[in-house]
Formats: sequence, structure tokens, C-alpha cells
Amino acid sequence: MGTYEIPIRGLKEGKTSYNFLCDKAFFSQMEDSLVENGNLEAVVDVKRSGDIVRLGISITGTIKATCDICLGEFDYEVEDCGGEITLKLGEKFEEVGDDVYEVDRSEEGLSVAQWLYEFVCVSLPIRMEHPRDENGERTCDKEMLKKIAEYSSENQERETTENEKSGEKAIDPRWAILKGLKDED
Ligand SMILES: [Zn+2]
Repeated sequence: MGTYEIPIRGLKEGKTSYNFLCDKAFFSQMEDSLVENGNLEAVVDVKRSGDIVRLGISITGTIKATCDICLGEFDYEVEDCGGEITLKLGEKFEEVGDDVYEVDRSEEGLSVAQWLYEFVCVSLPIRMEHPRDENGERTCDKEMLKKIAEYSSENQERETTENEKSGEKAIDPRWAILKGLKDED
């Protein structure tokens, strides 16, 4: 069986739990993954009663995220995301409803990787920001914020005039700074 598979053929009645690690290798096998790296533990409770198999999926850990404010990397906490998937043992693999799938009962195992990935992705906010500390202050990269503020005020006026001329959208100051830093190296 593959790394992220639960048994299908010969699955016993009742409940069994499986643990999976969602790390860099896991996310790298996902097509166009929104997440590059992480350290998450997924618990999949598999409960069979007759031809119905219910999967209760719960995922906790961290993913590597890039802060949208300061562009710094940080560990974003994913707390207990997941959901339920219902499988019906049958003849082939087919989605038959919302989170309900027919599966081929003769298959040895079934990969749950795609579901784990999707549960993680839907739990992520659209905007990634450094968490706040106990004083309610953002734990952003202070140096970077200073540079962004300086750059923005220095260039605001000039950019506005230039943009009026060219009609082009202003380059995001954060990217301009990053580009500047890279060029210095
Ligand atoms: Zn930040």
C-alpha cells in the first residue's frame, strides 16, 4: 500500500485509526500545491459497518507560510481542521455526492492524500499574517516594516506622477525592496 492509503480489501468491521504525516514530501506530490512545506499530523478514524465506511479526518500542526505584510516566513498553526468522508464499497471509484464516494471493494488500499490536502487548504485564510504576541503586537519583521514604510513615503509622490503618465500599476513596495535586497547580494 502507498504511504497515504487506508486498507479497503479485508477492512475489518468497527473502528481503526491511522496516522499520517503531511510534510514537505507530501505537499510536493500535490499538483500546483498552495503549500510547499509543513509539519502536520493527520488522524483518520476509519469506521466500517457493512458496506459503509466512514472516515473522520482531523489534522493539526503547522505549515510554512509567507506573511502578506512583511514577506517574512513563519509557521502558521493549523488547528484541528478536517471533516467527514463517506465511502460505499462497490465496483468502481466514483464521486456519488458531497463527500460521498463509491470505491472498488477489490482494491487493496485507497489513498486519502487528496482529501487531507484539501482539508488543509480550505482551512487557510486568504491573507497570511504573522500572529500577534501576548501584547497584541504583530510579530512581523520590524526591519522589513521600516523599509517598507520608508520606501512607500519616498516613492509615493514620484510613483503617482509616473503612473499618471504611463497608466501602469505601481509595483508593490515590498517586492521592490526584496528585489533591492537580492540585487545587493
Ligand atoms: Zn509579517
